[in-house]
Amino acid sequence: MGNMPRYVTHIESAIDGTHFDPDQIQTLHEGRPLWVKYDLPAIQSAVDRQTVMNRPPNLWRYRELLPVGDVIQPVSLGEGMSPIIECENLGRQFDLPNLLIKDESQLPAGSFKSRGLSMAITMAKHFGVETVAIPTAGNAGGATALYAARAGMESVVLMPSDTPAINQIECFLAGAKTFLVNGLINDCGKLIGTAKEQTGWFDLSTLKEPYRIEGKKTMGLELAEQMNWKLPDVILYPTGGGTGLIGMWKAFNELRELGWLESDTMPRMVSVQSDGCCPIVRAFESGERFAEPFENAATIASGLRVPVAVGDFMILDAVAESGGQAVAAAESGLQHWQRQAIAATGISICPETAACIGALEKLRNDNWIKSDETVVVFNTGAAQKYVEAVDYSLPSIDRSQSIEEIIQQIEATALTT
Ligand SMILES: *Cc1c(COP(=O)(O)O)cnc(C)c1O
Repeated sequence: MGNMPRYVTHIESAIDGTHFDPDQIQTLHEGRPLWVKYDLPAIQSAVDRQTVMNRPPNLWRYRELLPVGDVIQPVSLGEGMSPIIECENLGRQFDLPNLLIKDESQLPAGSFKSRGLSMAITMAKHFGVETVAIPTAGNAGGATALYAARAGMESVVLMPSDTPAINQIECFLAGAKTFLVNGLINDCGKLIGTAKEQTGWFDLSTLKEPYRIEGKKTMGLELAEQMNWKLPDVILYPTGGGTGLIGMWKAFNELRELGWLESDTMPRMVSVQSDGCCPIVRAFESGERFAEPFENAATIASGLRVPVAVGDFMILDAVAESGGQAVAAAESGLQHWQRQAIAATGISICPETAACIGALEKLRNDNWIKSDETVVVFNTGAAQKYVEAVDYSLPSIDRSQSIEEIIQQIEATALTT
């Protein structure tokens, strides 16, 4: 390392606390994920909030709290510092004046997956990996393909055959070895898990290496900074593999230990799924720490089509520690909530986040969220990545009509929100 610091002390098993060498590439232990652990007192003396806030507006401004420290060169497309947008109109519909959306749709590749994959590919490159492989429900594959292209690495992407077309296209265009598989993300994961022994591919599957969490953690670091180091009362997060929710909870705890938060009150974390695929909600409701595989998973919110999550206990632990909940929104309501939210905010809200709007409606009706609370919903991706998920038809204008007839037709057409 020379005398340039990297603040990682060790890698630690999330299931039994075993320590591993942070200077070696690490994957799973006992089939379960690993945490990256930092020397927080050393970070505390090396950097303060103001120094971080004066740096360029991307996620690398938190580099002391990331595996790169001052040493490792990021593979970057300028990701991070997504805006937090006040949503008065949508909030009014739920009698919730302090409703905010953190809009991750503006990140590279149109989803928050760029945070985790920028970090994981940075570290894979650092460790000399030549080929990365990923099973994906959609956006992770696209982000992998783009960041691997950025890094000059080869990538192998396996996705279900009905993955949204845009995800297929972004992989194809970025030169990834992309294949459609007759199965779901966990089936793709099994193929990669078996093939990697013989091929030397590095497996970037959700939580099967420790660094994607660290990338997603920056959503929590940014949120704290953007809210003047005072966290909201409630966070709603659409959960598939769970890296985002787990990462944010880790971020809040690290910030609290660093003494950077203005208040010790932590947000209640709400893990949101669709009832078309809700293994985490089922486990939460039955008080289990591990989730049963969800049979016949089907949802237009492709990022939530994750029937098995290796980090299930990490999601459920974070939800429980925070006093939060896991909530399933009706699959049949996703298109309605997506249009309701976009029409009221102008934000390009993905179907995954539409599930959060459904959950918000329920939690306000139950008064589990109070009217005066501050609520942040994460918009994890861009609506325009989901062409197939929108059921719509538009009226046509026949140019052979008179302009009066055309105006009459336009004015007689009701707004369809
Ligand atoms: C992957 C994905 C999710 C789920 O994210 P996790 O952090 O893996 O739970 C949610 N929304 C979108 C748009 C995604 O691409």
